[in-house]
Amino acid sequence: MSTTNSVARPRFAARSPLRTALDRRVKAYFAESGLSPHGGRRFAVKAGLMLAWAATSYLLLLFWASSPASAIPLAVSLGLAVAGIGFSVMHDGNHRAAAGRPWLNRLAGGTLDAIGGSSYVWRHKHNVLHHTYTNIEGVDDDLDAGPFLRLAPTQRRRSFHRLQHLYELPLLGFLAAKWVLLDDWLALARGKVGGSSFPRPRGSDLAQLLGGKLFFYAWALGLPLVLHPPLPVLLVFALSSAVLGMTLGIVFQLAHVVEGAQSLAAPTHSPEARLQPWVEHQLATTADFAPRSRLLSWYVGGLNFQIEHHLFPRISHVHYPALAEIVCEVCEDFGVRVLRFATLREALGAHFRLLAALGRSSTPAGAENACGAGVGAAADERALPPPVREAPGVLPATP
Ligand SMILES: [Zn+2]
Repeated sequence: MSTTNSVARPRFAARSPLRTALDRRVKAYFAESGLSPHGGRRFAVKAGLMLAWAATSYLLLLFWASSPASAIPLAVSLGLAVAGIGFSVMHDGNHRAAAGRPWLNRLAGGTLDAIGGSSYVWRHKHNVLHHTYTNIEGVDDDLDAGPFLRLAPTQRRRSFHRLQHLYELPLLGFLAAKWVLLDDWLALARGKVGGSSFPRPRGSDLAQLLGGKLFFYAWALGLPLVLHPPLPVLLVFALSSAVLGMTLGIVFQLAHVVEGAQSLAAPTHSPEARLQPWVEHQLATTADFAPRSRLLSWYVGGLNFQIEHHLFPRISHVHYPALAEIVCEVCEDFGVRVLRFATLREALGAHFRLLAALGRSSTPAGAENACGAGVGAAADERALPPPVREAPGVLPATP
C-alpha cells in the first residue's frame, strides 16, 4: 500500500549487524525445522474456534437470553470472543502472516470488517504507522489518546492526568464503540489517520469497507432491535463493546506503555537526523510479557510476544514462543536489552506505575532487562508448533 506523507516521518540509521544476525537465525530456524512461517493448521483451527465462540455467544444472546442473569455473562463472552478474533485471526491476516495465499490472508484480515473495524484503515494505522514508527509521538497513532491520557513524557500533562492510572481502564471501555462507530468514518472523510494521509479506498477496498460496516451494524444492532426492545439491546451492545475495548486496549498498552519501554518525539531539528537502526528501535520501545502462560499466549494471539511480532510481523504468531528464544540469545550476544516481564501481573504493574508517574509529571526508571527470566526452555518446547509441513514462505519485509 503506498502512502502519502503529510507529516515528516523519522528516518532510521542503516541496517545493523544485529538485524542481520536475527534474520539469519530465524531463517535457519525455519529451514532446519521445515516449518512454514505462516499459521498453517494451528491458525485455521484457532480461527474456527474463535469464530465459533463469538457466533455461539451471539446466537444465545439473540434467541435464548431472557434476563440480565443470562444476558450479562453472554455479553461479556461475546466481547472476549470478538477480542480473540481481533488478536488471533484478523491481526495475522492483515499482516499477511496467516497463510501463504493472498486470498486466505484477505479473508482472515476481513474478519475485522465483520466485527466492525475497517481492515483497510487498520492496515495503514497499524501496519504502517505503528509498526514502523513505534512509540514515536506524532506518528504512531497508538500513542495518541487525545487529551484524555498522557502516555509519553513528551506529551502535555494536564491536571486530571494525576488520576489517569485509575480511569484508564474504564476509558478504554469506550474505545471499541468509538472505533467502529466514529473513528473509521472520520479517517475516511479526512483521508488521514492522526497526522498521516493515506490513499482513500476505491473499488473492492471501498466495497469491503462499506459492506463490512453495514454487515456489522446489521448483526450488532439491526437484527437485535428487530427481535428485542431497544434498551436491553443497547445495554448488551455497550457491555460487549466495553469488554472488547478494555481487553484490546490493555493488551496493546502492555506492549509499549510500560516502565522501560522508550517513547520519543519525532526528531524535527534536521531532515538529515537519523534514529537508531530500526531493529534496535523496536527493542527499545516494545516489551514481551507472560511468555510462559500458554493460555494467555493462545488467547491474545501471541501479542504477549510483541517484540517478536514487531521484528517479524509477517511470521504467524504461532511461532513466537520459538522466536523469543532466538531473539533472546542473539540480543544477549550483542549486549542489547530485551524487555520482558515474566508475568501478566508484573506487566500490569509496570504499566500502571508508568501511567501514575506520567500523571505526576515524573518518569520512572526503566524496568530491568528480564531476558531469559520469562522464557523457559521446557515451557517453550511445549508451546512449539506441531510439525506443519508446508512450503517455506518468505521472511517478512521490514523497513
Ligand atoms: Zn501488528
